[in-house]
Amino acid sequence: MRSQLAFLFLSVIFSNKKIYTPMTQNSQSTDRHVDIAVIGAGIAGISLAAFLSPHARVLLVEQEGQPGYHATGRSAAIYAPSYGPPAIRALTRASRAFFQSPPQGFSPYPLVTPRSVCFIARSDQLSSADALMNELGDVSPLRRLAPAEMRELAPLLRPNYAALALCDDSTADIDVAALLQGFLMQSKGHGARLGTHQRVVGMERQGEGWRLHMAQGEPVHAAVVVNAAGAWADEVGAMAGAERIGLLPKRRSAAIVQAPPGFDVRGMAAVIDVDEQFYVKPDAGNLLISPANEDVQQPCDVQPEELDIALGLDRAMRAFDLDVKRIQAKWAGLRSFVADKTPVVGWSDKAPNFFWLAGQGGYGIQSSPALSELAAAQILGREIPSHILQEGLDLNALRVQRLAVSA
Ligand SMILES: Cc1cc2nc3c(=O)[nH]c(=O)nc-3n(C[C@H](O)[C@H](O)[C@H](O)COP(=O)(O)OP(=O)(O)OC[C@H]3O[C@@H](n4cnc5c(N)ncnc54)[C@H](O)[C@@H]3O)c2cc1C
Repeated sequence: MRSQLAFLFLSVIFSNKKIYTPMTQNSQSTDRHVDIAVIGAGIAGISLAAFLSPHARVLLVEQEGQPGYHATGRSAAIYAPSYGPPAIRALTRASRAFFQSPPQGFSPYPLVTPRSVCFIARSDQLSSADALMNELGDVSPLRRLAPAEMRELAPLLRPNYAALALCDDSTADIDVAALLQGFLMQSKGHGARLGTHQRVVGMERQGEGWRLHMAQGEPVHAAVVVNAAGAWADEVGAMAGAERIGLLPKRRSAAIVQAPPGFDVRGMAAVIDVDEQFYVKPDAGNLLISPANEDVQQPCDVQPEELDIALGLDRAMRAFDLDVKRIQAKWAGLRSFVADKTPVVGWSDKAPNFFWLAGQGGYGIQSSPALSELAAAQILGREIPSHILQEGLDLNALRVQRLAVSA
């Protein structure tokens, strides 16, 4: 079986660190024999492929007919460096430069457009506002606004609803389609391939690498497998005999409604309840409203429940001067978390040459440039880029070893 392997692979272990050596010019690569198979073509898999593909032969395998079909295509597209656990905040700050100045030719459109984000607190929620400020500490980008100032940023807010707003002006809307397309074009430009309608249903060791069995078609042979399978990451890990990470996919729903006639939403802030009970955000001239729900469910093509949407509208209409008569669109997506809500990035202890890139929760778009650059450096055995470390990222916070929940 080893002789059938048409690629060169070296795996060196230095205190849990493995160094990947790509195929030489002489080694054979076919459509089904690659250096690195990345399972999942959401933002995690595609952005990683962009950073790996200049150095290795990469195949992205995606069960759906198009990339970004699941969580990635269903996000609220907010860039907020004050949102999420510490490691996410560091990765999001480290992603800012990429969003503002992507590589030449990455996208014909700007990846980000400035938009303030305000966390609002009613008088009974002031302790939550204090807790948020304490959590962010000295580096907090949030400024406190009194009700009069806050209504300048969110004119539809009912006058007596909020007692305080904590606003961040370093935030933005992300053009997720442009980001995804840019990473995809970069990957393809460096020879990476994307296979859609390719569902991985099993995995077995083959020499130092892996043979991936697909629901349809020939198996794929890869020296390294990356698990970027979003809500399915624990299922994919189990196929490889890797540790379980206790991933919980959680449904979040959203609806688009018309803004009040004559009201221009463009300058309005995205407004998030400080206890994350709902949020309202301008979206292409309309308003996006979410109940900010986190309902645990099995990985699937998730749909919104009527109750989710009704709850979101009710909470939003209590806070905002809105009278919603019609819902223009609604959807739901799965935000997948491990216990500490921090992503899982690194080599498996149990499955050789199997790399985790999972658990991005509700922050996978805003952190994707730095997260994938970091993951690529680890896979390729390179130095972690200093601009990421400078943000104070604790690499241990991301390791799978912190949370393996069962053998
Ligand atoms: C309503 C909502 C709002 C959000 N808002 C924001 C936001 O404002 N900002 C932000 O940064 N993030 C936000 N997020 C979170 C963000 O969308 C996710 O963190 C991110 O998209 C996760 O990317 P992913 O690539 O890991 O997962 P996915 O996009 O789900 O991609 C995983 C892919 O793996 C594929 N796959 C799974 N199993 C297999 C298999 N066996 N074989 C082949 N393919 C497989 C799936 O088909 C899927 O396409 C939001 C999410 C939701 C749902």
